[in-house]
Amino acid sequence: MARLLIIGCGGVARVAIAKCCQNSEVFQEIMIASRTVSKCDALAAELAPKTKTVITTAKVDADNVEELTALIRSYQPDAVLNVALPYQDLTIMDACLAAGVDYIDTANYEPEDTEDPEWRAVYEKRCKELGFSAYFDYSWQWAYQEKFEKAGLTAVCGTGFDPGVTSVFTAYALKHYFDEIHTIDILDCNGGDHGYPFATNFNPEINLREVSAPGSYWEDGHWVEIPPMSIKREYDFAQVGKKDMYLLHHEEIESLAKNIPGVKRIRFFMTFGQSYLTHMKCLENVGMLSTAPIEFEGQQIVPIQFLKALLPDPASLGPRTVGKTNIGCIFTGVKDGREKTLYIYNVCDHQECYREVGSQAISYTTGVPAMIGSMMVVSGLWKKPGVFTVEEFDPDPYMDALNKFGLPWVVEENPQLIP
Ligand code: NDP
Repeated sequence: MARLLIIGCGGVARVAIAKCCQNSEVFQEIMIASRTVSKCDALAAELAPKTKTVITTAKVDADNVEELTALIRSYQPDAVLNVALPYQDLTIMDACLAAGVDYIDTANYEPEDTEDPEWRAVYEKRCKELGFSAYFDYSWQWAYQEKFEKAGLTAVCGTGFDPGVTSVFTAYALKHYFDEIHTIDILDCNGGDHGYPFATNFNPEINLREVSAPGSYWEDGHWVEIPPMSIKREYDFAQVGKKDMYLLHHEEIESLAKNIPGVKRIRFFMTFGQSYLTHMKCLENVGMLSTAPIEFEGQQIVPIQFLKALLPDPASLGPRTVGKTNIGCIFTGVKDGREKTLYIYNVCDHQECYREVGSQAISYTTGVPAMIGSMMVVSGLWKKPGVFTVEEFDPDPYMDALNKFGLPWVVEENPQLIP
C-alpha cells in the first residue's frame, strides 16, 4: 500500500501512470504533478473510472526546489518517480532530500544549457579524464551518494528499458547463468513504422542529442570514443528481421563497467533506417540540433527546441505506429570453467501497447519499468540508503514483474554474436 508522486506527464509518464493504476494493490494513491496541469487532469479523468488507485493532480515546476519540496511535504508520498526530463534530476533529488522521501528516475542528469560555463568546466575536465564526451553522465547523481546515505533514503537511477531493464537482464544473467561476464552487447531495435518521413519516438531534444553525439564503448578498463554512427552492424532480430544498427554511447555502459566485476567490453547498438539518418544529418548540418540560443527577430530561440515544436509529438505516434521492438543483451563469459553465450531480450508490439494504454512501444517499454522500479522501492524489496543503478539490486522480483506487467522476456542460449 503506497502513495507515489509522479513528476511529468509526457509519453513515458502516461504509461507509468496507467501501469500504477493497473497495480492499485501496491499504488493505492498517486499524484500526477507536472508543468502543464491540464495534461495531468486529462489523464486523471481518463484513468479514474477504470482504477481503484486514487489519483490527484498538481501543477509544479520541478526546476524550483522550494516549490517541489513544499508539494512533496504536503502530499507525503512514499517515493517520487521522476518521469519529467533529465534536466530536472538534480532539483528533484534535492527536493526528495529536503522532504525525506525516496527517489526514482529513468535517465541520468544532463543540463538543459550546455553552454553554462560552470557546468562546462566540470564537463570538459570529465571528457579529458574519462575519455567520452556525451553531455550526460552519472557523476552528478553519484555525487549525491553520501547525502542519500546519511538521510537513510534510496535513490534508484535509470529504471526505464535502456537504461533499466537491460541492466536488470545483466544482473539476472550474472546471478543465474554466469560466474563471470566478459562482454555485453546491448541491442536496441525498433522495427516500428509511424509513416512520417521524420519523427522521434521520445522527447526529440533528448533523443537527437543522444543520437548525434560521438559513439563510445568500454574496453579493457577504459572508454573508446568514435565519430557518430561510424560503427555499423547488421543483426537478424527475432520477430523483427534484419536491421542495420549503429554503435552509440549509452548511459548504462558507465554504471555496468563499474558494477559488473571482470567485464572486458560493453557496447550499445541501436537500429536506424537510412531516412532517419539522412534527415538527422541534414538538420545537424544546418544547425537545427544546436542547444545554444540564437537571436531571431528580436527573440532568443534555441534551435533544437524550435525543431521540437515542428516535429510530431511523440505521444501522437501511438495510433500510427505498426511493428515491434526487440531490446536485449547478448552476454559472453564463463560458467563452471566453460565459455558460454546468452541473449536475453523482450519483444514488444506497438499496436498491442496502443490498444492497452494508448501509447506506442517506446513509451511502453520505458513506462512499465518505471512503475516496476517504483514498486521495488515502495514495497521495500529494493531499499538501501544511497544512490544506485538497477543492477545493484536483486533482479529476480523485477524480472517476475516484467513478465506480469506486459514485458515478458526470452532467454536464448548460443545466439548469433556481433563481430
Ligand atoms: P516528454 O517530453 O513526453 O515528457 C516530459 C514531461 O515532463 C512533460 O509532461 C513536461 O511538461 C514535464 N516537464 C518538463 N519540464 C518540467 C518541469 N520543469 N517541471 C515539471 N514538469 C516538467 O518526455 P518523455 O515522456 O518522452 O521522457 C520522459 C523521461 O524518460 C526523459 O527523462 C527521458 O530521457 C526518459 N526516457 C528513458 C528511456 C529509458 O529507456 N530509460 C527511454 C525513453 C525516455 P510539459 O507537458 O509542460 O512540457
